[in-house]
Amino acid sequence: MGHHQEILSSKSEILIEKENKYGAHNYHPLPVVLEKGEGVYVWDVDGKKYYDFLSAYSAVNQGHCHPKIVGAMVEQAQKLTLTSRAFYNDKLGNYEEYITNYFGFDKVLPMNTGAEAVETALKLCRKWAYEVKGIHENLAQIIVCENNFHGRTTTIISFSNDETARKSFGPFTEGFIKIEYDNLQALEKVLESSKNIAGFLVEPIQGEAGVYVPSEGYLAKAKALCEKHNVLFIADEVQTGIARTGKLLAVHHENVQPDILILGKAISGGVYPVSAVLANNEIMNVIKPGQHGSTFGGNPVAAAVAIAALEVVKDEKLAENAERLGIILRKGLNEIAERNNLITLVRGKGLLNAIVINCGEDSDLAWEICLKFRDNGLLAKPTHGNKIRLAPPLVMTEAQIGECLEIIEKSLNHFRS
Ligand code: PMP
Repeated sequence: MGHHQEILSSKSEILIEKENKYGAHNYHPLPVVLEKGEGVYVWDVDGKKYYDFLSAYSAVNQGHCHPKIVGAMVEQAQKLTLTSRAFYNDKLGNYEEYITNYFGFDKVLPMNTGAEAVETALKLCRKWAYEVKGIHENLAQIIVCENNFHGRTTTIISFSNDETARKSFGPFTEGFIKIEYDNLQALEKVLESSKNIAGFLVEPIQGEAGVYVPSEGYLAKAKALCEKHNVLFIADEVQTGIARTGKLLAVHHENVQPDILILGKAISGGVYPVSAVLANNEIMNVIKPGQHGSTFGGNPVAAAVAIAALEVVKDEKLAENAERLGIILRKGLNEIAERNNLITLVRGKGLLNAIVINCGEDSDLAWEICLKFRDNGLLAKPTHGNKIRLAPPLVMTEAQIGECLEIIEKSLNHFRS
């Protein structure tokens, strides 16, 4: 594909070749090799500076290498890094108290990655269904949405729509019912069709689907329907959480408190792999000692890092900043769309946004535009051949957004027909 070419320098070319030779295939990266990050900026191996408009898929909400978060990590790493959960460590209890109060839940189950936290939530939901709701063993069903993205494990891809991600990885895990996203009638119909529904797993905004924002009221009404049917509302806020959409959680836009909350990515500011599942006692207490866990989950470095990262979100008012700058960014993008009909749609919330390009999903145009962004000093990545996600760190300033809009317009003008 075209985007594998146009490598910037021989130095980056050598490093890219090495990854291609010795590393298993990952996905299609943009050809740029980064070696440094600070705040909203990253630098490549040749010293070229870029605005980061991906934020490692919304992990680096607090900005790259935030000194307070890195400081907490270094300080803890010099004292104690890992005990496993075979013993208690002096950081975990404080972190658990902090994060449960922060999000308003009784308990937290600490994990490492987003996919692991999703798996944990699915296990938790099933166990609750059998032990509390009274569904007959092995019959529990969990409702999921079309075009979801929840990670890459075998169970999670069992209910993915992405054929590339699924093909030749079966057999898959049973027990999932897929319905259309943003469709309350579809949800109600399934809920009414069976007594064996245990949960509804949903992204408050579908990130990987191209920043698809559901209709206003969808989440609140879906939560109410779940409540009516004694079904757990499970919010995957791995990408939308931690101030990204202009509120601490995206479900807060509709005053929803999920039954199970899944967090990852920015819970550590991208400094260290940390994820978490939060729920109240009635749900979380179904997991007994020995039934679930992870060697690294809840380690003292993760705990120290996550407390610092969550403090930064509050101290620096990142939700408010994301909300304010998101409005400015979308206004600017819509103005560009008026001047350049390559943009057919601007959508998003807070600083989780996307532009839809006037071409087909299988086109290479979004990739070519992202290469042009790169040349002009801004890094973003398409979600599809016709959609580009725009999600900078939340520590941006208004002046920086202005500069980025200029880069975006200048780059798009290059493709103007
Ligand atoms: N859930 C959502 C909504 C995500 O966006 C992602 C990652 N893009 C994941 C889960 C998986 O997280 P991880 O890559 O850390 O496993």
